[in-house]
Amino acid sequence: MPVCDNHGPRGKTAANLAATRRTTMTDFPDSPVSFGALQLPPALLSALADVGYETPSPIQAACIPIILDGRDLLGEAQTGTGKTAAFALPILARLDLTLKKPQALILAPTRELAIQVAEAFQKYAKHMPGFHVLPLYGGQSMVIQLRALSRGAHVIVGTPGRVMDHLERKSLNLDALQTLVLDEADEMLRMGFIDDVEWILGNTPATRQTALFSATMPEPIRRITKRYQRDPEQIKIKAATATVSTIRQRYWIARGADKLDALTRMLEVEEDFDAALIFVRTKLATVDLAEKLEARGLEAAALNGDMTQGLREQVIERLKSGSLDIVVATDVAARGIDVPRVSHVINYDIPYDTEAYIHRIGRTGRAGRAGTAILFVAPREQRMLKVIEQATRQKIEPISLPTAGEVADRRVAQFQQQILETLGNENLDFFYDVIRRMEGEQNLATRQIAAALAFLATRERPLKPDLPDIPVPPPRPEFTERPARESSEPRGEKPVRERRPATADFGDKPKPTLAEGDLKRYRIEVGRNLGATPKEIVGAIANEGGIAGKFIGQIHLFADFSTVELPELPPDVLATLKKTRVKQTPLNIRLFDMDAPAPRKAPAKPKFDKPKFDKPAAPRKPRKP
Ligand code: AMP
Repeated sequence: MPVCDNHGPRGKTAANLAATRRTTMTDFPDSPVSFGALQLPPALLSALADVGYETPSPIQAACIPIILDGRDLLGEAQTGTGKTAAFALPILARLDLTLKKPQALILAPTRELAIQVAEAFQKYAKHMPGFHVLPLYGGQSMVIQLRALSRGAHVIVGTPGRVMDHLERKSLNLDALQTLVLDEADEMLRMGFIDDVEWILGNTPATRQTALFSATMPEPIRRITKRYQRDPEQIKIKAATATVSTIRQRYWIARGADKLDALTRMLEVEEDFDAALIFVRTKLATVDLAEKLEARGLEAAALNGDMTQGLREQVIERLKSGSLDIVVATDVAARGIDVPRVSHVINYDIPYDTEAYIHRIGRTGRAGRAGTAILFVAPREQRMLKVIEQATRQKIEPISLPTAGEVADRRVAQFQQQILETLGNENLDFFYDVIRRMEGEQNLATRQIAAALAFLATRERPLKPDLPDIPVPPPRPEFTERPARESSEPRGEKPVRERRPATADFGDKPKPTLAEGDLKRYRIEVGRNLGATPKEIVGAIANEGGIAGKFIGQIHLFADFSTVELPELPPDVLATLKKTRVKQTPLNIRLFDMDAPAPRKAPAKPKFDKPKFDKPAAPRKPRKP
């Protein structure tokens, strides 16, 4: 995908974008290829049409031919680049559906990612009758998994621990395995799974194809690729960098509110708003979002590759002339748009790569004007945010969702403006008469009549909207590396893990790994008696709470409960994590209070006034490869 639009950058931003530098390890096609050109079978092409993907993302264009060809691959890619389809599509294309044995295994660091990847396979295989994908992760009943395995599956997506368990029990047979994918390998390393991963690599057919995806390439990952991959093709998304000084960049963490609600609030309160270009990922989403905005009273039009050239030009003309203020577009359809009145670019869906981001935000700040770019970031996509900051060489400022009060203030200000304009521009003599008569006949003050009129005039769009107040998420912690947390399951050599002795002695001060005071100790109601492991706890908290694994501090396991060090949790995250389950048990997380009496279970046999602390979890015995 090109760094700049096809027509070349223009205006002031052009000079900035000219500083763009590309680094690449593998050449990508510079113009977007189509999925059809990637030799994918018709069943997959029609599934892609169903989900509305317009063109392959850069990682897809690069990886699909390699995986189709059976070669090994080493891909440096973040979440959000489209990497799941980059491996899922060629794997599906190569499957023999008549052979009901696992032909592909995808290892993922967390249960949530495993489920997400399995769902992606299901979505792309919509027109492949008889296809079966099976997610295998800890925390789910073994009986269910054993039954599903005995029914047979073509693709297995699992977390390393559970896959290993099944291989050891011989309930999972990988004799027919063709492709092994390690997804988010650096996250698996960070979570302490790397030995399990190596064990699995050592216990699968040597003839297999191995694709490894990782956002970063630390040494232990490189070591794995050297040992277990055969001359892998290296794919790295081109790192485009540019300075975009006329554009103010901001981001919002999409947590605790739905994106549509956030978007409409932002569009209402943004200062210096003239026109907005909103970017989404699919053609369907352009139409869907434009319709939803219209339903909320904001005139918006879609712009996508399915529209005829004439229709697209019409939309751009309306945007230029000011008869339309909001356009919802895909990257492809918005390529090269040059409309100086676009004051805002909103990245409703995060772009695949920095090139797409730079291209998108370059649609504002044109012809010497100032522009604003707002990026919606899901908690899982925060790493992509960091990469974008590096690429644009600018700090992206966090913003919080406008409150109901701010929306009301803006509406009132607009309403007052309308009144002043009407007073200045219209002949109101007849209406003065009507009001004067009413004052006399009904004995009313002008203020009373005016208030009733204001109510009537704004009934459709109330000045004081009834919007829920959404808690403000905590500021983004600085992304500093920290030693990995204590785990109770060491297995063999741990290259990057610094092991800190877990101690049950709470007189011993916790050792925060972020800045002093950043971490608080929380209590969760799952402990060793349920068989919970630190890995499962980290996985659940990281995924459900949207907290990067690296910000989860020490975990201490006790018989009936555990404690976890975390940054201070905002109420919405706390509420989510209370309901999050590990070993089918809600975490019921709360701040750990050392003086609180131990929760009593009926019948409460031991009479402790204070929690009785057991020894920390004993390390599990290393398994033999
Ligand atoms: P991933 O990086 O695999 O987690 O994908 C991120 C998101 O991008 C998912 O919601 C996908 O459905 C979406 N996506 C992946 N490939 C494409 C594509 N070619 N066009 C539009 N959306 C895509």
